Amino acid sequence: MKIAAVIVDVPARQTDRPFDYVIPEKWEDVLQVGMRVTVPFGARLLQGFVVNIKSHSEVKTLKPIEAILDVTPVLNEELLGLGQYLTETTLCFAISAYQAMLPAAMKAKYEKEIHLVHEEDRACLHETIQSLFADRSVISWKDVEHTNVVPLLQKEIQKGYLEVVYRVKEKAAKKTIKYIDIAVSKEQIHEAIEALPANAIKQKQLLTLLRSAKDGMPLKELLEQSGASHASVKALIQKGILSEREVEIYRDPYEHREFVKTEPLPLTDEQKQALAPIVESVRASKHEVFLLYGVTGSGKTEIYMQAIEEVLRQGKEAIVLVPEISLTPQMVERFKGRFGSQVAVLHSGLSVGEKYDEWRKIHRKEVKLVVGARSAIFAPFENLGMIIIDEEHEASYKQEENPRYHARDVAIYRARFHQCPVVLGSATPSLESFARAKKGIYQLLTLKKRMSENGLPTVNIVDMREELRSGNRSMFSRILFEKLQDRLTKGEQSVLFLNRRGYSTFVMCRDCGHVIRCPHCDISLTYHRVQQRLKCHYCGHEEPLTYRCPSCASEHIRFFGTGTQKVEEELNKLLPEARVIRMDVDTTSRKGAHERLLEAFGEGKADILLGTQMIAKGLDFPKVTLVGVLAADTMLHLPDFRSSEKTFQLLTQVSGRAGRHKLPGEVVIQTYTPEHYSIELAAKHDYDMFYQKEMAIRKLHGYPPFYYLTLITVSHSEITKAVAVTEKIAAYLRAHLSKEAIILGPVASPIARLHDRYRYQCMIKYKREPNFTRVLKTVVDRYQQEISQGELFITVDTNPYMMM
Ligand code: ADP
Ligand code: ZN
Ligand code: ZN
Repeated sequence: MKIAAVIVDVPARQTDRPFDYVIPEKWEDVLQVGMRVTVPFGARLLQGFVVNIKSHSEVKTLKPIEAILDVTPVLNEELLGLGQYLTETTLCFAISAYQAMLPAAMKAKYEKEIHLVHEEDRACLHETIQSLFADRSVISWKDVEHTNVVPLLQKEIQKGYLEVVYRVKEKAAKKTIKYIDIAVSKEQIHEAIEALPANAIKQKQLLTLLRSAKDGMPLKELLEQSGASHASVKALIQKGILSEREVEIYRDPYEHREFVKTEPLPLTDEQKQALAPIVESVRASKHEVFLLYGVTGSGKTEIYMQAIEEVLRQGKEAIVLVPEISLTPQMVERFKGRFGSQVAVLHSGLSVGEKYDEWRKIHRKEVKLVVGARSAIFAPFENLGMIIIDEEHEASYKQEENPRYHARDVAIYRARFHQCPVVLGSATPSLESFARAKKGIYQLLTLKKRMSENGLPTVNIVDMREELRSGNRSMFSRILFEKLQDRLTKGEQSVLFLNRRGYSTFVMCRDCGHVIRCPHCDISLTYHRVQQRLKCHYCGHEEPLTYRCPSCASEHIRFFGTGTQKVEEELNKLLPEARVIRMDVDTTSRKGAHERLLEAFGEGKADILLGTQMIAKGLDFPKVTLVGVLAADTMLHLPDFRSSEKTFQLLTQVSGRAGRHKLPGEVVIQTYTPEHYSIELAAKHDYDMFYQKEMAIRKLHGYPPFYYLTLITVSHSEITKAVAVTEKIAAYLRAHLSKEAIILGPVASPIARLHDRYRYQCMIKYKREPNFTRVLKTVVDRYQQEISQGELFITVDTNPYMMM
């Protein structure tokens, strides 16, 4: 007897272990480790992953596996091991780790059905139930669960007339289309054409088309090209002249796009020097981590592409990660242009089905290269030759839900397994990576020169306090306004950048200072002009706009802060002749909108591109000669030890959008804190100095890269409970970690209440704690009961990027 150990789809501590099932004899030779199965679990059927096949079990009575969901394993040995690594390093459940590696389409969708057990019993059913089952023997639970027939159904189930059947389905199916073939010989088809009446022109056309097609034709095309009706095709199928089959196809998000083939550019000396060690490492199948530190526009992407060529020459595969936000059409175009159909693309703009199809292309080895956002790091390649992470400093490489992994760590794990290099690229490397490069753990490769002759753009810092003092109350400084006008007359383009974070419009009473807040969260509500509503960006709470202060009833209630909409209005007022394209969450929520807006800007259909974070990266437009940053310091004051680093990175990225080609670029940064080093040094393009300053501060306060951090957040609807649990956790950690570990807290989280739950946190700083994860697991396990009852939430983030 063979037994399969299965991880089941119940993300909870009690079920976070393999369960044994008998493999029915018929499947003994079919079932493999890494396949998905459905298994009975309690009264239900669940999806699960086979993690081991063995011949012995400690458990006496085992249930059999119900069904096999895959023909070939969807997780290979390497990915199963990686899942293990994720559970250990991020403290997630095994099931969450495995699910994170696969496209969402493969996650199970559970459906409950009610079946009539025996047709003979139909007459015995209660009449209401009889009418429900009038023309069928199965009903979906979903259709009835909220109706008043439920008690009746339960009675019939108890009597044994009806039964509950659980179904496990996939979220998205494979897509197929109908193909039509000729089912008879050449002579017979000739005869059939001859036999058609003279006026049956369309049917003649249909058969002639099919006769010249090599391998049948898709039904849709056939009908379009011949003009024949579906009915006549059906008739021919019935006569046995034609046949019909289903052919599986891929949903191709780039189906109607043509990509111009590009050739490798002759490299500059600097580029050659950076490329050589990477190529060497690929050839020698050597695991190394390179940090490619190159200013914006220094030709990093060209280096990536030429390194990939070497990987492909070796018959191997490559993964390129880019931040979601910079996975712009321009970026996709560059890789598709160079590598054509060998590229799969994975990003959040694709539908569930499209992502599934891209994944299957990788799984079936039909592509050699994947360009994608964070989760593409799990691409099921089996012969990896290189992993590239562009903009490696980006916080979006950290997943903020379980498993809370960082793509960089996963990349290094996989590259070590495959003995291949990792290339981390950035103009503003994360302090962690740069420190490792300085220590020699990573190999540092540097590009100092920009490709365009103009070099880096000149940057003007404007002190907005001065502007106010000299009577300018507008959101544009005089110098920015002049330059905008100047570009307009010259027919050049400008980009205006507004950091959304902390700068959305809130509503405040001018008389009493009352700010309208979310009733469930400790956060002010944001004003949405179009719908005239106030919204909470954390929990989704909405309410209509008020015109009277809820606290003092004054009518002097006003909208504060600057949203992109407000900037747009102001631009329309001050520069009515300027054509503006606004890009923010509101204008880009529809599928393809992002792409269309950028295309329009690229074609010169607007003078000014106004937007949030999403325009900060990757854009490359020759006519952009001015970049304005409206409020550089909005991020500086967030309660996050990385706020200076993030500000520096963002300003550098935004400035990098100007003057990338022939025309020289200029940048205007508006700020209320011009003396802050992250702003000053970003303006001077001085990463090295910034690194030194910031490292000194991190050292002083005991932050990464000098210490590891772990953040524990506890939340409960009762504040006393949240505090008490956090206190107990902190005390336990103090008793069980080494003397060197620093345990801060409990303190209220920066967002002290969310979804009606009070939030407390405890931060651990440590350097070396061999038992760290074991201690953490033990303490969290203590609260298992309360957690599973849904009363208490404890999240453990072993490498936090969100400090709120
Ligand atoms: P980065 O990725 O560092 O921001 P890119 O790879 O986008 O830089 O390069 C900036 C510009 O320079 C692009 O338009 C690119 O096509 C061009 N470029 C890169 N390498 C070369 C080269 N060796 N010769 C000529 N142009 C190049
Ligand atoms: Zn809220
Ligand atoms: Zn008031």
